[in-house]
Amino acid sequence: MADERASPESKIYFPQSLAELLQVHRRDPDALIWAGGTFILSQRTGRFAELPATVVSLQDVEELERISRTERYLELGAMVPLRQIIRLGPQNVPRALYDALRHIGPPAVAGLATLGGNLAVAGRIMTAIPVLTLLDARAELRRQGGARWLPVGRVHRADGSVDLQPYEIITRIRVPLYPWTAQVFRRFGSELSPDSDPLTFCGLARTSNRILEELRIVGSAGHPRLLRNKSMEAELVGRRLPLPDREVRQAIETYGEPGHELSSIQRDRFRRLARWFLLSLR
Ligand SMILES: Cc1cc2nc3c(=O)[nH]c(=O)nc-3n(C[C@H](O)[C@H](O)[C@H](O)COP(=O)(O)OP(=O)(O)OC[C@H]3O[C@@H](n4cnc5c(N)ncnc54)[C@H](O)[C@@H]3O)c2cc1C
Repeated sequence: MADERASPESKIYFPQSLAELLQVHRRDPDALIWAGGTFILSQRTGRFAELPATVVSLQDVEELERISRTERYLELGAMVPLRQIIRLGPQNVPRALYDALRHIGPPAVAGLATLGGNLAVAGRIMTAIPVLTLLDARAELRRQGGARWLPVGRVHRADGSVDLQPYEIITRIRVPLYPWTAQVFRRFGSELSPDSDPLTFCGLARTSNRILEELRIVGSAGHPRLLRNKSMEAELVGRRLPLPDREVRQAIETYGEPGHELSSIQRDRFRRLARWFLLSLR
């Protein structure tokens, strides 16, 4: 049975296993899922957080804290604290993801914050999502009696809501391990403060014998729509390196199209980073 501790305002459940968690969540699909609590607490307006009638804490669910690695994948339980993932080091975690996680909050936050929580913030694309999207990571969603895998880039719908069915929980994130030869992550501002013109940039490339064999570039201003141009990426694949400055300029121009709700600062930063990344490829 769940360890049920009552507070004057909210009932808080502490399920002890995944099966119990899914059962409790099925009983009360409107309950607030509490992972590390760092985002939830960052949104409070007064001294204390205003919690709904029922809260389900994931802290005692051991199945959500597992990490495994094969030659092809790194699998991270939704409740593994970011600090623990960072401690695996860049030899075990794709470099761009490792760098992205090191940007999330001060050390006290990284000790509590989880990857599941980073994916599940409604209305905002948090720091890890653009990188996980480029890496083709998938999230496992579980409910009582069923499971499905969703590409991380599709966890948020176009309107920013999270594509979780009632009773579903993010249980683990599977990150393919691919031999990228160039991985770059940069971040300006913070998704927590839209006034800071936040911009997350990630570039991935595989090169061999001075030929560009694979290329992926993404930018995010925290909105549901990521800045990515797959046809431009495909056009540059197969080219000899270094890329001529003229071709890079033309490629960057394709990011000028409207419809991405970027400020001029965000767009300018993104273009400069994309240009620098493309010119640096060898
Ligand atoms: C000082 C500070 C700085 C920060 N800086 C950054 C930053 O730079 N970049 C950034 O991305 N974030 C930042 N954050 C926000 C936050 O720390 C991270 O986004 C973190 O990864 C959230 O994880 P959590 O476990 O604390 O989530 P929680 O706060 O517990 O939950 C976040 C949301 O996800 C839902 N949820 C959590 N886990 C699951 C699950 N397994 N299945 C389904 N739903 C779930 C919760 O119900 C809630 O809606 C910062 C926070 C603070 C306090």
